[in-house]
Amino acid sequence: SKAVFLTNYPAGMPGPEHFETRDVDVPKPDEGEMLCRTVWMSVDPYMRGRMRPDVKSYIPPFSLDAPLEGGAVSEVVESNVPGFEAGDYIVDFLGGWKEFYISKGERTQKVDPNLAPLSSYLGVLGMPGMTAWAGVTQILKPQEGETLFVSGAAGAVGSVVCQLGKAKGARVVASAGSKEKCDWLVEEAGVDVALNYKDYKNANELTKALAEAAPKGVNCYFENVGGMHLEAALNCIALGGRMALCGMIAVYNNTEVEPGPPNLVNLIGRGVMARGFIVSEYMDKTMEFAAEVAPLLAQGKIKYQESVYEGIEKAPDAFVGLFKGENKGKAVVRVGPD
Ligand code: NDP
Repeated sequence: SKAVFLTNYPAGMPGPEHFETRDVDVPKPDEGEMLCRTVWMSVDPYMRGRMRPDVKSYIPPFSLDAPLEGGAVSEVVESNVPGFEAGDYIVDFLGGWKEFYISKGERTQKVDPNLAPLSSYLGVLGMPGMTAWAGVTQILKPQEGETLFVSGAAGAVGSVVCQLGKAKGARVVASAGSKEKCDWLVEEAGVDVALNYKDYKNANELTKALAEAAPKGVNCYFENVGGMHLEAALNCIALGGRMALCGMIAVYNNTEVEPGPPNLVNLIGRGVMARGFIVSEYMDKTMEFAAEVAPLLAQGKIKYQESVYEGIEKAPDAFVGLFKGENKGKAVVRVGPD
């Protein structure tokens, strides 16, 4: 069977030269273990942080001597773990980047292939959807008529943020990196204004466009990108505004530390609350998330896009694509048949 290894830690933008797909033995499960077969795997921006051996993070760096790991939907092939049987479908954080693996059933959830497409448990019904839900409902709490601005809006997290914002009656201003993505945001996700940030050279230009799109100011900012997006949001943030700091993908490949935004001072006079968070902080609320988002999905009030890469060998391309804006919506890799 095949598995993808990191062969060296990237400095700057990662590329296919940092990965290698190798043949490995299919492992045998011991007592208390189960053999799993990966069906879908996820590539996520946070994985870039695990490719920095020198930086202390909330999650340890990847080893160069073992296959990479990450979120996956898998089928149980053989189980010595009570509660799991062959034929069960599961989601976990181990199965990514490999075709077969051993699990002890920890941090593993069973999923129902009849309720939703299996890949959606890696996106809208999985970790990114939960992240969007947590930032919107637990931190930003947009009120009817308020303006919500979201960067990285056409991605896995951002697209759910936009639609939750609309469901709560907010005016939603979205930013994404192509006309095609902006059209989808307006026509399918129902946002009020979509800004193609590549039309703006710097924070001043983006600020002007944002101020026009949000004439009463930005009450809620969902931060996925950093850099000039953060600076523009700080310029337009309203009195009593809230900021959910979820990610800053624009800086993940920097080789040098960039200076912070020069206008943080706006937080003070405008009484703004800025709150960073990691989705795992809200794991006790997954049932609340599912109870709110699954019906919206079933009613067509939340739409989603997927960029599907076929075959485990394509996983590095899928991952690198995250930093080049090549993926629409959630990027997933089909590793094996359902
Ligand atoms: P996405 O599906 O949004 O994929 C990444 C997207 O980011 C790309 O498609 C690209 O879209 C955009 N992007 C990449 N580089 C840049 C750049 N330099 N400037 C502006 N946009 C850029 O990923 P996710 O939805 O999975 O993640 C979104 C953010 O949320 C990330 O910052 C991630 O780290 C964070 N996150 C945080 C979690 C938490 O617990 N705090 C959990 C999950 C995600 P475009 O074409 O628009 O440029």
